[in-house]
Amino acid sequence: MNLVLMGLPGAGKGTQAEKIIDKYAIPHISTGDMFRAAIKEETELGLKAKSFMDKGELVPDEVTIGIVRERLSKDDCKNGFLLDGFPRTVAQAEALENILSSLGKQLDYVINIEVDREILTERLTGRRICEHCGATYHLVFNPPKTEGVCDKCGGPLYQRADDNAETVGNRLDVNMKQTRPLLDFYEEKGYLRNVNGQQDIHQVFADIDQLLSQLG
Ligand SMILES: [Zn+2]
Repeated sequence: MNLVLMGLPGAGKGTQAEKIIDKYAIPHISTGDMFRAAIKEETELGLKAKSFMDKGELVPDEVTIGIVRERLSKDDCKNGFLLDGFPRTVAQAEALENILSSLGKQLDYVINIEVDREILTERLTGRRICEHCGATYHLVFNPPKTEGVCDKCGGPLYQRADDNAETVGNRLDVNMKQTRPLLDFYEEKGYLRNVNGQQDIHQVFADIDQLLSQLG
């Protein structure tokens, strides 16, 4: 099964990715991991990517796409893969179509975990971190026993600057704007499957699992 996983920050993509690869034994291919591996193996494209990253520049599409092509050609992808963080643009999605067709493959599903903006904001702004030991809590999903105090070490809890409502709101808006054309592209191709991410984690996976089990 050849899958792309999509979802805004806070939608629970990481958790669902883990469950999918666990059950279906396909590799989880995230852009970051892919770059790190190509650089470590010192492939030509890996070294090229590194030269841009070292200068603090964005890696150009042709290099990124080449790295994706190398990764998807590997043996462990022969029964499928779960792509995460790629493609980010319609141009990259078109490149992915070409890569897959040259490998004699095609996408099965693009799974999009849908969660309302308000709920994502609540999830993303609720995080609290212990100043002393770094333990993380969530005001709604994983609250400390005493408000503002770490269960583990009694240290004070704080909110990271990145987690405030304004920064989170901006991040979501930028992401939504970037993602929309991609979702439209995949809807038109017939690959898009929206999953309700506002349910219990297990129910979200049950819905995904139901889709995937149809692929046999
Ligand atoms: Zn602590």
